[in-house]
Amino acid sequence: MNAESLVRGIGMTSERTRRRLIDQLRAEGIVNETVLEVIARTPRHLFVDEALSSRAYENSALPIGRGQTISQPLVVARMTEAVLTGPRLGKVLEVGTGSGYQAAILAQLADQVFTTERIGELARQAKQRLHRLKLHKVFVRHLDGRDGWPSQAPFDAILVTAGGQVPDTLYEQLAEGGVLVAPVGEPGKVQHLERVVRTADGLERETLGAVSFVPLLEGLD
Ligand code: SAH
Repeated sequence: MNAESLVRGIGMTSERTRRRLIDQLRAEGIVNETVLEVIARTPRHLFVDEALSSRAYENSALPIGRGQTISQPLVVARMTEAVLTGPRLGKVLEVGTGSGYQAAILAQLADQVFTTERIGELARQAKQRLHRLKLHKVFVRHLDGRDGWPSQAPFDAILVTAGGQVPDTLYEQLAEGGVLVAPVGEPGKVQHLERVVRTADGLERETLGAVSFVPLLEGLD
């Protein structure tokens, strides 16, 4: 097999395995075609270590180092679907950049994405990946995301991708009509995805489903 057919072969396998993932997401109840399309075209294998790239299109969370994980595609799809109330988003804030994968999905649906990560090494790697993919509308900062990103607030969507209690500061940075999704729960217990909409009358809350995220921690590493 020459180099060219090898590359083509990888491309074909990847197309097939990506399609299989999309079928699984549909079977699990994801209905937003825009979300499915963006997941289908985003190379998740570039957001994990090369040794794990053959598993990148499985519907599972995978380790990304430093005890952290890239979220399960179904959870990424659910959270994205939960904040995408129209065809596109304006300004989005993510807390917990991790691999940068969720930010890459959001970048294709939003005007600007601001994402924070408390582990410097992960923030650096994510920034490189997003740059390589020419996703220039994503801004990655090595910050404690519990403070939000005050200079860019308010946001049309806020996604917290680490579990715990949502600090009030984040609700305060939500624009009117904006949506926040976050895994909420005590450490070590079952977490639920909370969806909160800021209306003219205040915050409207609903609970989506059980999830399992690494903890939202204080301070930098
Ligand atoms: N969204 C990520 C997965 C998140 S894993 C992805 O698509 O790959 C959760 C991440 O949140 C971890 O990398 C963890 O270090 C980070 N995190 C935890 N507490 C945080 C905080 N207070 N501020 C910023 N990041 C935090």
